[in-house]
Amino acid sequence: MTVPVLAIRNLSFSYNASPVLTDISLTVRAGDYVGLVGPNGSGKSTLIRAILGLTPLRTGEISLFEEPLTAFRDWHKIGYLPQRIGQVNPHFPACAEEIVALGLLSLKKGFSKRVGEEDRSRINDAMELLGIADLRKKPIGELSGGQQQRVYIARAIVNQPSLLILDEPTTALDPETRERFYTLVGDLNRSGNMSVIFVTHDIGTIGRYANRLLYLDKKIIFFGGFDDFCRSSEMAAYFGNYSQHIICHRHDHDAQDPELHGRR
Ligand code: ADP
Ligand code: MG
Repeated sequence: MTVPVLAIRNLSFSYNASPVLTDISLTVRAGDYVGLVGPNGSGKSTLIRAILGLTPLRTGEISLFEEPLTAFRDWHKIGYLPQRIGQVNPHFPACAEEIVALGLLSLKKGFSKRVGEEDRSRINDAMELLGIADLRKKPIGELSGGQQQRVYIARAIVNQPSLLILDEPTTALDPETRERFYTLVGDLNRSGNMSVIFVTHDIGTIGRYANRLLYLDKKIIFFGGFDDFCRSSEMAAYFGNYSQHIICHRHDHDAQDPELHGRR
C-alpha cells in the first residue's frame, strides 16, 4: 500500500444551517488520480477548500501527508487551482511569467522573495509544458480566457507539487486544449508521480484519465475505481445503465480511438 496523501474522517460541514457535506470519509493515496464529480452545488469546492484549511472545520478530521491539517506546514507540496469566477481585471499589472512566478514566491519568506536561476528554469519548464512560453511577457489582461487559464495552471504546477488539486480547470479551455490538458495532467500523474484531484463537470471524459472516481452529492455517492463503478448494481440503480457506462468509459467501442480500446 502506498502512503496516504490525504485522509478524511467523518467530515461534515454546513454553511449556517444548511448541510453541504455529510459524513465524508476517504483516503487518497500517492499516485492516485481522482476525478471529483457531482452536480452543481454538491459541495465539491467546499470539500476542496476544507482540505486546504480554507474552511473552518467543526466536525471531522483531515490529514495531509499523514499530518493533521492543523499541524500541516508543507504547503509547497500542494498545487491548487481555485475555481475561476469571471475574468481577471484587464488592467491587472502583471505579465504571464510573473503570475507563474507567484506559485514559487508565495511560499518563500522574507529576503528570499526573489526569483533565482533555478526558479527561472522551473517557470520556463512549466510554461513550455502548457505551450505558453511565447506569452511570457504578455500582460495577463490581454490574453484570451483559455490562455489565462493555462497561465494559472502553470502557476499551480510550477512548484512540482506532490498533490495537485484542480477545481474545474477546463471550463475556459477550447475542446482541443482541453484534451491536451487532460493528457498533460495524466502525464504529470504518471511520470511525475503527482497525485491529482481533478474537479470537473466533464463526467463523460474524466473516466479516460483518472483512476478513481469520487461522485459527490453532499455525501459520497461513490468512491473507488472505474471498474468497480462500472460493475456496481447500486450505481446502475442510481444513475441508470446508460449514464453509468458513459461515466465509467469501459465500453467505448469506438474503433476510431485505439487508446480507448487499450483501456478496456
Ligand atoms: P460545487 O463546487 O459542487 O458546485 P459548492 O461547494 O460551491 O458546490 O457549494 C455547495 C453549496 O454550498 C451550494 O448550495 C452553495 O450555494 C453553498 N455555498 C457555497 N459557498 C457558500 C458560502 N460561502 N456561504 C454560503 N453558502 C455557500
Ligand atoms: Mg465548485
